[in-house]
Amino acid sequence: RIRPEVIPAHEIGVTFEDIGSLEETKESLQELVMLPLRRPDLFTGGLLKPCRGILLFGPPGTGKTMMAKAIAREAGASFINVSMSTITSKWFGEDEKNVRALFTLAAKVSPTIIFVDEVDSMLGQRTRVGEHEAMRKIKNEFMTHWDGLLSKANERILVLAATNRPFDLDEAIIRRFERRIMVGLPTADSREKILRTLLAKEKVDELDFKELAMMTEGYSGSDLKIFCTTAAYRPVRELIKQEREKDLEKKRRAEQEKNSEDASEEK
Ligand code: ATP
Repeated sequence: RIRPEVIPAHEIGVTFEDIGSLEETKESLQELVMLPLRRPDLFTGGLLKPCRGILLFGPPGTGKTMMAKAIAREAGASFINVSMSTITSKWFGEDEKNVRALFTLAAKVSPTIIFVDEVDSMLGQRTRVGEHEAMRKIKNEFMTHWDGLLSKANERILVLAATNRPFDLDEAIIRRFERRIMVGLPTADSREKILRTLLAKEKVDELDFKELAMMTEGYSGSDLKIFCTTAAYRPVRELIKQEREKDLEKKRRAEQEKNSEDASEEK
């Protein structure tokens, strides 16, 4: 049984400081998420309705999941990560029951951010040919509970979703995401900031960050992380190679000594 994992705010291991660049996204989320979750009493309706749905869209590995976790932490909200596999698991039996249970759980641990990664696979095109009846039911159930949040001003639950395929979402879903924020591939300046963040705790005094940023055109934050990790392995690999060579040398010498001892004994 796969249950959705609830991470209490203080156990979330990602902070805004771990995220390089993306300042505007951070600011937007702070405004949209923090206030309504912390002070629902200020959002009494009219123009000041709390936002119940935010969509982060953009290429893979650009920090959308990190961002969702960091904002939950900062807002003091529980973080529930759901995906299609959580909903279609045998958690509570039928899929719709799982959706209902998800919202009940979210209310119990609120304030809560329900994070739907790859939202297109769960709430994608309703008109797609051959769409399963089960999928349609999941979506309808999800939308019903989500809409229910709008009528409960004090329910401190927000649906934050991410996708690499925003065009696979239909109108009805898009509309429910009152704010849609694009998280694109980083520019050279942003890559420099991300590299500085990723290497903040490393001894890299002589590194030319500007040049590295220029060399990594088209890299996402995730690509930059892999790039740094691979580079960090190099000295380790070198060290292991040297140690292995030393061991071999030692063995060779020991054998030579043994051979020469054997030879002198034979004489
Ligand atoms: P996907 O669409 O594939 O789910 P995503 O946009 O949600 O990707 P994340 O999972 O947040 O991306 O990022 C993957 C990893 O890449 C992170 O764990 C982190 O190590 C690194 N990363 C991405 N963007 C940044 C960034 N702006 N600053 C620091 N690290 C980053």
